[in-house]
Amino acid sequence: PAPLMVVRNLSKTYYVGHGRHLVAVDGISLSVMPGEMLGLVGESGCGKSTLGRCMLRLTDISAGQVVFEGRDITTLPERRLRPLRPRMQMVFQDSSACLNPRRRIGDLLAEPLRVHRGPDGRRRSAVDIERRVRDLMDLVGLPAAALARYPHEFSGGQRQRINIARALALSPRLVVADEPVSALDVSVQAQIVNLFADLQARLGLTYVFVAHDLAVVRQVSTRVAVMYLGAIVEIGATDDVLHRSAHPYTAALTAAVPRPVVGATPPPPLGGDIPSPVNRPAGCRFHTRCPYVQDRCRAEAPALHSIRPGHEAACHFPLAPHRDGSVDA
Ligand code: SF4
Ligand code: MG
Repeated sequence: PAPLMVVRNLSKTYYVGHGRHLVAVDGISLSVMPGEMLGLVGESGCGKSTLGRCMLRLTDISAGQVVFEGRDITTLPERRLRPLRPRMQMVFQDSSACLNPRRRIGDLLAEPLRVHRGPDGRRRSAVDIERRVRDLMDLVGLPAAALARYPHEFSGGQRQRINIARALALSPRLVVADEPVSALDVSVQAQIVNLFADLQARLGLTYVFVAHDLAVVRQVSTRVAVMYLGAIVEIGATDDVLHRSAHPYTAALTAAVPRPVVGATPPPPLGGDIPSPVNRPAGCRFHTRCPYVQDRCRAEAPALHSIRPGHEAACHFPLAPHRDGSVDA
């Protein structure tokens, strides 16, 4: 099958004054296949949310290309993006900020259905909208009786269900979920994560799930991309990336997540701060924090290269996994 979205050499830079630029996304290429659940992970500030927003053209793209359903949307003006908007939706982290507090839930869910025409190009009838709104509530596990209530009457987890329902209202092909559970209590997180997995199974949804928490990403991703300072440093099948990590940064992130094998030796913990994206280190972008750094790493930037089929890492000295799950440089 053809990819649903192709991102080529995408960059997003911001001018920060004094002749300096912040490089939030630095030449990223990736494809999203139909039905795929792609996890996008990294520490805060690594550019993962910005990448997600660029993919949906919610922000301008500085360089590179984004192709959605075979169509180049990199520089499409908003007027021509508008008919495509129903097919690519975003779920945001802060569930309360996105919902107008003075509108009832039924109204909030009906809004996108009133604003956008149906797949047949016509406006939807009031009856169709009402039916669709009830189906959406059912889909995200909320009672239809809640439609008459206001956002503040719901818990954070319930509000996130409402946001998800709103994002799904127009039957999108691609959903980018930006840290959709990060603001929730751990017990509620699990319910929302399960909801995403369930929706994927029921609707064949394709989504990009942005998160800093690997334990969350593991449950909802068929593939994982790890970002560091604006670039993908490792990408591959979830099992390969998390259990056969090739990049020292991924290995450090996964060290904090319980491993399947008892007694496996975790790699050294990750020290130091993330360098500023205004002043990225030369050579390997991870070299200032890497426990395995060598001279070559300071001089030469490693490109993403194949570790095994479908698994790539950007490191001159990729880690070799042992059978017990521990790793050596
Ligand atoms: Fe570490 Fe060198 Fe690999 Fe960069 S290239 S991650 S510094 S070993
Ligand atoms: Mg973010």
